Parts: sequence; C-alpha cells; structure tokens
Amino acid sequence: MPGALIRYTGLLLIMLLVPANSYALFGLEKLKRFKPISKKVEIQMGQGIAAKILGATPLVNDPELQQYVNRVGKWVALQTERPNLPWHFGVIDTDTINAFATPGGYILITRGLLMMLRDESELAGILAHEISHAVRKHVLRTIRKQSLADIGRKRLNKMAEEKGSGNYKYLVNSSTEAFSRGLDKKDEYAADRMGVVLAARAGYEPFGMATVLQRLSAINPKDTKLTLMFNTHPDPDKRLQKLMEAVGTQLDAYAKQPRGKERFQKIMKAHIARYVPTKRKKSVFDDDIW
Ligand SMILES: [Zn+2]
Repeated sequence: MPGALIRYTGLLLIMLLVPANSYALFGLEKLKRFKPISKKVEIQMGQGIAAKILGATPLVNDPELQQYVNRVGKWVALQTERPNLPWHFGVIDTDTINAFATPGGYILITRGLLMMLRDESELAGILAHEISHAVRKHVLRTIRKQSLADIGRKRLNKMAEEKGSGNYKYLVNSSTEAFSRGLDKKDEYAADRMGVVLAARAGYEPFGMATVLQRLSAINPKDTKLTLMFNTHPDPDKRLQKLMEAVGTQLDAYAKQPRGKERFQKIMKAHIARYVPTKRKKSVFDDDIW
C-alpha cells in the first residue's frame, strides 16, 4: 500500500530527526502530566493495536507452539504486580526479528526472533522484557504523550467504548502510529532490568535476555531483518552494558536455575517439521518496507 508506505517512511524520518529522548531534553515531560487512563481503555487500546498488527502479520498457524509460548509468558506475567491483566502471547509469522508489547497485556514475538533462541530462559527473558513494558505502562504513556495529549480522560474513555465508530478507529490508529515509533530509551533499559528480575522469580536462569542481546549484537546491523528492532530499540551492546552495570552480582545466586533447553528444543523441532508459511501481503512489520 503506497499510502501506508509513505506514512511509515514519514515516521522514520521523524524518528531520525528527533532524538527519542527529546521530550526530556526540552523539559516537556514536566509540562505534560496526565491523569491515568482507565484499565478498561488500556485493554481496549491494546486489543485494537494487536488486531491491527495481526491483520497485517497473522499468527503462525501452529496451536501447540502458540500454547507453549502462552504458558511460558503467563507464568512470567504471574510474577508481576499486575497478574490479572488479560495476558495474551502470540508468535507472528514474519522473519523480521522483534517483539512487541501493546498496552493491556498483548505480547507478540516474531517467528524470526523465536527461531534465533536456544532455550526457554531466552524466551522467558524476552517475554519478561515485553511484560515489563505492559506492567509499567510504558507504551500507554508514550501513546498518550505523542498522539492523544489533547484529549481529556473522560473523552478517551468514551471513545474507547464506541467500538466500530470513527472515534474508536481514530483512537486505535493514533495509538498504533505512536506504538510503531518505539519507546524512550530509558523505558527500554528499565524493561531490561525488570525483565531479569521477573525471569529469576519465574525460576529461570535470569540472563536469558542477555544471551539473546549478545547474539543480536553479533549480527550485521545492516541485516534488514533487524532494521525495525534497531529503529525501535537502543543498540544491543549498550543495553547489555547498562543491564550489567545495574545488576552487578545481585542475581548471581539464581545463576544455577534451569534454562529449559531440552523442552524448548523439542517444541521448536516439532514446530519446524510442521511449519507452513502463512500466505499474506507484505506488512509494515516486514523488512523491505523500511
Ligand atoms: Zn522494549
């Protein structure tokens, strides 16, 4: 779709011109204080964004794999202060390497990223990072600040309830746009720190996420499968460095916890044997759009 292409290319240009932390630089963070959006709106916004992503890039057609990823994700989510969000986890059918969290607990990981993983602690680590964004409302705050700053809380609540209306579509479209731009770097580092703690609480060796970051940093940054990830996240080396500085030796006591290698590899082997790619059009989450 050329319209979408132009719009998303436009977004990319804005991203390149305006540093991710420009709000903080210009002191805008202090000026814009919002009353919290209701949990109901948070969940509906998340549903709307997830539906849009899945409309463009459907789930991998493998119920056993999806169930497995949901089991791991829900167990990690239970370790958080928001265990009762309607947590949903899904693997989307694209080679691009990335993972997303919408507000309200919809977490998606691409098949490209899943195929890079070697054990369950790595999967748990990635899901824990995304879960942290949802729990701490990072995405919700970004959307509110970037796209919906002029709309009052009451009005937003009303818009979210008018499902199918023009207002509702506007809400979801603005949210999806803000969502595609990525988060503040400080939110990314915070999710990395919270993620290792959640993985440890869930009984995994806590640094699964760190081993994935090491693997990502070894890939040529020009690899187009990584473009979207690198556009929306800080450099993996920098993330590793920040994470290790913050955590130090504090989680060393958990280093002997299991990584779940055998179980993960058995499930992935079975998945690869029965995998049939989904027939679909290219989407904004595919590599060549950028
Ligand atoms: Zn993130």
